[in-house]
Amino acid sequence: MLTFFSKITGVDYPWVKYSQITGRDFVAGAMENTTATLHQEGAQQDARQLVDGNSWEGTIAHELFHHWFGDYVTTESWSNLTVNESFANYSETLWNEYKYGKDAGNEHNFGDMQNYLFSGSDKKDLVRFHYAHREDMFDAVSYQKGGRILHMLRNYIGDSAFFKSLANYLTTNKFKSAEAHQLRLAFEEVTGRDLNWFFNQWYFSSGHPSVDIDYLYNDEAGNVKVIIKQTQKSGKGFRLPIAIDVYQGSTKTRYNVWINNPVDTFTFRYTKRPDLINADADKVMLWQKKENKTLDNYIHQYKYAGNYLDRREAIEFAAKKLTEPRAAELLKSALNDKYEGLRQLAINLADIRKEAVRFSFEPIFAELARNDKKAIVRATAIQKLGDYKKAEYAGLFKTAVSDSSYTVAGNALEALGKIDEKASAELVKQLYGQPLKGNLQTVVMNEVLKSGDETMAEEIIGGFAAMPMSQAKFEALGGLSTYLAAIKDISFVRLGVDEIAKFRDAVPEAYRNQTDGYINGMVLKGILAKKESEAKANAGNIALQELVNYIKGKLPESERKGF
Ligand SMILES: [Zn+2]
Repeated sequence: MLTFFSKITGVDYPWVKYSQITGRDFVAGAMENTTATLHQEGAQQDARQLVDGNSWEGTIAHELFHHWFGDYVTTESWSNLTVNESFANYSETLWNEYKYGKDAGNEHNFGDMQNYLFSGSDKKDLVRFHYAHREDMFDAVSYQKGGRILHMLRNYIGDSAFFKSLANYLTTNKFKSAEAHQLRLAFEEVTGRDLNWFFNQWYFSSGHPSVDIDYLYNDEAGNVKVIIKQTQKSGKGFRLPIAIDVYQGSTKTRYNVWINNPVDTFTFRYTKRPDLINADADKVMLWQKKENKTLDNYIHQYKYAGNYLDRREAIEFAAKKLTEPRAAELLKSALNDKYEGLRQLAINLADIRKEAVRFSFEPIFAELARNDKKAIVRATAIQKLGDYKKAEYAGLFKTAVSDSSYTVAGNALEALGKIDEKASAELVKQLYGQPLKGNLQTVVMNEVLKSGDETMAEEIIGGFAAMPMSQAKFEALGGLSTYLAAIKDISFVRLGVDEIAKFRDAVPEAYRNQTDGYINGMVLKGILAKKESEAKANAGNIALQELVNYIKGKLPESERKGF
């Protein structure tokens, strides 16, 4: 990563050393202290967690890239935070693309775009001079939107000019602070282009385009009109350079055009109707769009256009048209897509209640569950096979419970529980107490806690009591309350309730207003509600009535009302 970032920025890692530290209960995800990045404890993963891939790798890239964008050149003000955070954010995409291939980079890019689009921050400029608190700047605009803007800029000027501009910006402003205009000047110097329009639109303004794209074929006239209409409610017009690819079979012709108006029409002549016209052919636009492509277009797009998003769009379209045999066929072929993220998507979208899917997809699910080389695909396929509830898969699931991947193992245990409760309960018992993490830990804990197995009470309550004051202990409360509600042994319930109240009262004063409400109102009252209804059903049971009063006694006066 150090070598790759040194290479693409044109600036060798500018500090004498690099250390990474993890800290328990660290309030932020991670922090790029120069030469000594501090990570949240989630960065610590065991070998089995890493089988699914390193879930912290994006953050590792992000903090490291700050050593160029953030530490070597830093932001002049919080208003200009984009010169730090948008780059660190975009480095996650760059790293994924380099290390795991273009599909992985584009998948990351797409995920971050969705983050921004669903954040409801259309009205915020990227560079903002008015904000209530500096923390407000650390949002989906400074991070995810800014990263996508850099992705568009890179596509517009090309890789060579883009990375040369980064080197220019870093060298010109090294050991100083900078703002977005210095970034613009660095890009303008390298490209010889005026980029005020781009920066005014994306850095000093807000929102993004929404477009309707219509493809109107006219075989008689021998032309097709591509009509792109901007429909964003802000009424703001965007200027967008885009590529449109016209396909005849596997041959494509590219047209680079500009969207300049509320409605733009691009006309392409043909003798034989094109198989596909693909607007925004590189799939880089930060926009929301509606298109009137046909199933045939999408089948062609999946096969020939080839980008991650081209294939993703085709898969999603097909999944909604499963009554069409050719749509089912497309989805089925996507189960063997070359990229694991799309294989996983195709499995997830395959609705087994549909006739066209249920029988013909099943052998492929079984094959993927057994043999896919990516753990996340095996895990997803096992989950899907679990939905069939067929005893014949018990062997497969039992074997998969000892898979090195926690995700595979956890999903297999759940799937087994659907067809053989006894076998799954035995496995849960064997696994409980082993140092598990990830999905397997979640599934085992859920099963144990739901079961109300009292032979495990000492371990469960004692385990909670032994935990130091921490966020992890706070998070364990939900599971413990499920367990205490489920068991019948009154002395164990009392013991558990005592431990919960002890924890509640030990929370430092400054945090009590964030924890008391949950612990009293949800955790203790949750257990109380269950025991009260049991007491009501067993009116003569004095011990149960005493337990109810005991739990009530643990609640503050203000919380006792209503009971
Ligand atoms: Zn950052």
